[in-house]
Amino acid sequence: MPEPTDADVRRAVKPVVCYPNETLPVPDMDLYRTARDGAEKVGEVIAPPREAACFRVAAGQFFRITSVDGPQVGDLNLWNANDLGERFYSGKSRALHGTHLTTGERMWSSFPYLRPMATIVEDTLDWYGIDQYGGSVHDVIGTRCDPYTGNLLAGSQYHHCCHSNLTRAVADELEMSLEEAEPLVHDVLNVFMCTGFTRDTGQYFMKASPVRPGDYLELFAEVDLLGALSACPGGDCSAEHSSDAAACYPLKVEVFAPAEGALGDWASPPVNGYDRTHGR
Ligand SMILES: [Zn+2]
Repeated sequence: MPEPTDADVRRAVKPVVCYPNETLPVPDMDLYRTARDGAEKVGEVIAPPREAACFRVAAGQFFRITSVDGPQVGDLNLWNANDLGERFYSGKSRALHGTHLTTGERMWSSFPYLRPMATIVEDTLDWYGIDQYGGSVHDVIGTRCDPYTGNLLAGSQYHHCCHSNLTRAVADELEMSLEEAEPLVHDVLNVFMCTGFTRDTGQYFMKASPVRPGDYLELFAEVDLLGALSACPGGDCSAEHSSDAAACYPLKVEVFAPAEGALGDWASPPVNGYDRTHGR
């Protein structure tokens, strides 16, 4: 279409942040740090390369995802362990915090709950910031690699995309069929993944993750959590995913419990206060 005469004027309008976050409930990071200081390790699972593992974290505990043998990204799903209908809401977390999450930001749950499920308390990659391409780490802009998109674009039948890895892990953990487990899998927090949108075409891009063995992302569980983490078949996601071509490494998940009473009168956040009458 031909440009209107005032096209440049329209483009020059300054953006407005959709959800100014000054009124978001602020996590008590000092309390979390104090509680973490005296915490003891109570569990560990390994997500093997091109596989996923489930883990459970009680409200008030911490979980740490660590890169172990080589640069590796992970796809993380979270559910309320007592109500699987409450799950991580990637899109709203993105709207509230931005395209990538770091320390002090939260993984929010789906409607009608919309409350913090987990709060990031430590991120060894927080120095990365936003690079010259607009890339950053721990994104909530991608979805999860899946066999359907591969089939759509290339006619492939690949079974170790994160979507399938998560589906198998959840089916095993909850002792259900793949058909029952698959609808529980949802869009992820792409842990350690370095992504952005190309400035010229707006396309989703990935690049080699800056993660190195020893780097970790640690979160505080705001509610009782069932988690599932997939060691993405893309490895560090420098070249491709949805295949067995990339070098792929395990990811470690450790769970830490604070000392008795360390959280004082802290309690899980309440579910969202909207009355759900929807105008009726
Ligand atoms: Zn993946």
